[in-house]
Amino acid sequence: RAKELGRNNYQFFSEDMNRAILEHLTWEKEIQDALNLNQFSVYYQPKIRLDDLTVTGVEALLRWIHPEKGMISPDKFIPVAEETGQILDIGHWVLDQSCREISQLMARGRLAPGSRVAVNLSARQFTDPNLIEVIRDILNSHSLPPECLELEITESTLMKDVEHAIRIMNDLRTLGISFAIDDFGTGYSSLSYLKRFPVEVLKVDRTFVTDIPHDDNDMAITAAVIAMAHKLGITVVAEGVETPDQLEFLRRNRCDQCQGYLFSRPLPMHQLEQFLTQFRIRDSINA
Ligand code: C2E
Ligand code: MG
Ligand code: MG
Ligand code: MG
Repeated sequence: RAKELGRNNYQFFSEDMNRAILEHLTWEKEIQDALNLNQFSVYYQPKIRLDDLTVTGVEALLRWIHPEKGMISPDKFIPVAEETGQILDIGHWVLDQSCREISQLMARGRLAPGSRVAVNLSARQFTDPNLIEVIRDILNSHSLPPECLELEITESTLMKDVEHAIRIMNDLRTLGISFAIDDFGTGYSSLSYLKRFPVEVLKVDRTFVTDIPHDDNDMAITAAVIAMAHKLGITVVAEGVETPDQLEFLRRNRCDQCQGYLFSRPLPMHQLEQFLTQFRIRDSINA
């Protein structure tokens, strides 16, 4: 009887596994098709400086617009692409596309010359030995000044191998680009590491912002992170700002910049351009 149960379990398990493997292979093939058939596109979410309500730059966010399934979230397919290695091709495409589009936007005078485009890098991209060459070539081919490119790396990517991460960051910084730590507070990094990473920007994770002004702990953490980052000379961006109360709290606590639906969702390029024109007009009316 035990044997029978065991066999049944085995069969059940193996069917499950088969399904998982099949699904994985299907994803892999569909991601390849997406690359070949140009189903990817980059959306841009503005970052707003709280001092003067100007746009300091944008974050590039990958979108997969599937002909049948509609919009597929990067949280779904990026982990798969990271596993298959396809993230290297996808990441290259995102860097190239966003540097091209932002360079053109600046040339059209829609974005101030010192503004930045922030591009997310996954762990596998970050440790790719060709990354520095890839970035150098892309900046050159679109004549984008390196000061205009920021790379967002999550805390967990950095903590996988701290010494290696610091070396990679220093190498890349010789090009003139800068780094932001993404999703700060969600990983397991000790605060003492913060001073060792050559980063200019720290992004407070959305999970800490969401329950402001109702969760005292989240407010205490957010305020402390801002104060600490400032003591280390690091700029703070709050993610996921959706309400005026959250904005007010962040402003009171001297947060430098905000990003979130309160100001704008991530937008396709033509809508970003509209946003930038209107935002400037609204801004000058307020002033
Ligand atoms: P992330 O880098 O932390 O990006 C912020 C996410 O929060 C984005 O989700 C953005 O659309 C969302 N968001 C922004 N403001 C708000 C808000 O006010 N409320 C709420 N609820 N959400 C907000 P998205 O675009 O779905 O991206 C999810 C994650 O996928 C990103 O998190 C990033 O880790 C990854 N990702 C996106 N594009 C790329 C890419 O080109 N390369 C890599 N490696 N990862 C990417
Ligand atoms: Mg990010
Ligand atoms: Mg983030
Ligand atoms: Mg995230």
